[in-house]
Formats: sequence, structure tokens, C-alpha cells
Amino acid sequence: MRTTQDEKAIFVTQSSMPPYEEYIEAIKPLWDSHWLTNMGKYHIELENELKRYLDVPELSLMVNGHMALEMTIQAFGFPKGSEVITTPFTFISTTHAIVRNHLQPVFCDVKASDGTMDETKIENLITEKTVAILPVHVYGNVCNVEKIQEIAERYSLKVIYDAAHAFGVKYKGKGIGSYGDASVFSFHATKVYNTIEGGAVAFSQHELYERLYNLKNFGIRGEELVVSVGANAKMNEFAAIMGLCNLRHIHSVLAERKKCAELYKKELEKVKGIHFWTENKYATNNYAYFPILVDEAFPLKRDDLYNCLKQENIHSRKYFYPLTSDQACFKNKYKKISLDVARELSANIIVLPLYAGMDAGDIERIVDIISKKLKRE
Ligand SMILES: *Cc1c(COP(=O)(O)O)cnc(C)c1O
Repeated sequence: MRTTQDEKAIFVTQSSMPPYEEYIEAIKPLWDSHWLTNMGKYHIELENELKRYLDVPELSLMVNGHMALEMTIQAFGFPKGSEVITTPFTFISTTHAIVRNHLQPVFCDVKASDGTMDETKIENLITEKTVAILPVHVYGNVCNVEKIQEIAERYSLKVIYDAAHAFGVKYKGKGIGSYGDASVFSFHATKVYNTIEGGAVAFSQHELYERLYNLKNFGIRGEELVVSVGANAKMNEFAAIMGLCNLRHIHSVLAERKKCAELYKKELEKVKGIHFWTENKYATNNYAYFPILVDEAFPLKRDDLYNCLKQENIHSRKYFYPLTSDQACFKNKYKKISLDVARELSANIIVLPLYAGMDAGDIERIVDIISKKLKRE
């Protein structure tokens, strides 16, 4: 009999990479130019290509998604101690970026229908100190951008989207990064599209480009001129070239992800107690993740299902559990707000492995394990 150790390990994701030869060819010119970073040729090229692909007016590349978030928040120059309405149902980076800018996160509950910020609960949280709303297009699910914009305008607040999961998503025919005052993308190795490590900020006001440029490059504007206090958050040329190569293959990456997601859906639809969200008819889907919700009709609790998959060498993830507001570093530090929906989602969600090039057989294996649990009852 086969033991579980014999089964191949399946991880929640696998980084997309261009063919080896393609990347090696593409980086060769760097050995002539010796220009490895500092807004080089490929940095400029990638900024332009991504502006086009993401269908956004302006774009600034960054060393990673987190620094892109930090620099973006900083670029708006909010007074210290101001409040930012955000979601706790996200990767910890979102909350860290707010707190590291000396601002107070005010956690807003999310919707059971898609995990994004519940726009009907935002207004109640607005105070004199509120300066911005920072929602997340979690798993690539689009927030209610119209309603959020309306509220922001009524109260003169900035809207900064954490669009780390939403690469390539279009909403009502427009790039998702063209909504709000700024949208931040992550090109981390584990995301739909990667530059190994990397990120970008999309926006429409050119003035923001200048501010972000200063923030990401020490405020240097000439050999002998530093105009403002800045950090170092530039993308290097190796990363930019990885980005250019990966962008050439993004179409097939998205198509392969879609195929996997559809196979999961077809099979899991039959399993009682397992649910997944329906698609937003106004938005395209990038199949960044495949989250499922486990309810009482399923014989196992989420944690038991997670452990049982793990025993079979299948490494799903409890994204996003715990809520960022419940993490040791933030617990009981900020305003206490009811987060019942977020907590419920967080307790019952599990993200199944999904990546371009994933074997259909591996998906069948995962689905088999899940549906066998049901039959045992
Ligand atoms: C990945 C991620 C980030 C951070 O991006 P990095 O490129 O890893 O720094 C921020 N927010 C969310 C929601 C993410 O998933």
C-alpha cells in the first residue's frame, strides 16, 4: 500500500517563469551596459508596458508591493495619528503599511458575498480624524468602487486600493488600477504575475509620480540635489526584465489558471458543504486564488480539512486567518469594531492550490480527498 509520503507535494502556488533561454537571452545586454538598477532601460520599458497592459494613466514601479503601499500612503502626507478605514481580512502587509506610517487603522467589516470591505459600514466609522479608505480587492474580487468613491468624495477622503491580488482585472471595461486615488499591485513571486519581487502604484495624478519617484530614490533630483526625504524602493533591471518576459506569457498564464479554476468548480459544485463565490459579472477574473468556504453541512471543520489535506502532502492555506486585527502585534490596540462577517469568513475559508501549469490530475486528487470526507459520513 502507498503511504501518503509517496504522494507528490502540492503547494498552494507555484511561481510562473518564462522559458529559461528567454530570460537568459534577455539579461545578456546587462553584461555590456553594466547598468543594473537606478531607473534603467528595462525599468522604463516595463513601466510603459504595464501602463498599457493594466490600462492605467500613470504607473510607478517599486521594489515590492509592501514598499509600494508604504510609499503611496506616505506620498499623501496625512497628519500623524490620522485614521484610515481598512479591512482586517487581508495579508498583514496592508495593516503594517498603515501603522508604519504612524496612522491608525480602523477596521471595517467585510461582505460575506465576496470578502471585500462592506461599503454600507464605512460611513459609521468616519470621524474628524479619518483621512483615507484603504480597501483590498481580496483574491481579485472587486470592491464596490462606485460606492466607496461616493463616500470618499462626500467626506473628502483619499481612496487607496490594495490591488495586490488584482493584476490584470478589468471592471466595467476599465483597468482596476484606474479607480480611486491610487492602486497598489504586488509582483511577488507568489502572485499571478511576478518580477521575482516587485510592485507598482497606479494612479492618475502626475504629481504623485514625482512624489513617489522622490520617495523611492532618496529624494535625489540631481548630482548635488536632494529635494526631499526619501527611502530606497527602486526595482532593479533583473527584476524588470523578468517582468517583461513574464508579461509576454501572461495571456496563457491567465488561461491556464482559468482552466484549473473551472475544473475545481465543476467537481466541487457536487460536494455538499463546500461553497465558492460566484463571479462579478462586471469584472474579469484573474483566478489569483481558489478560496472555498466550508460550512456545517461538511463533516469536517476548516482546520480539520486543512490538516487532512496536509497529511496527503497537499498544502492549502488559511488565507486570511487570523484577521490582521487579531494578530499579536495589533490585538486590542485599535478601535473595537464588530467584525463578525470577517471573523466568520476567516474561520471557514481555505485556499486550494492553483497555478498556471497545474496538472488536472492534481486537481482531481485534491477534489477526491475532499469529496471522500463527505461520503464517510
Ligand atoms: C502580497 C501582498 C502584499 C505585499 O506585496 P509584496 O510584493 O509581497 O511586498 C500586500 N497586500 C496584499 C493583500 C498582498 O497579498
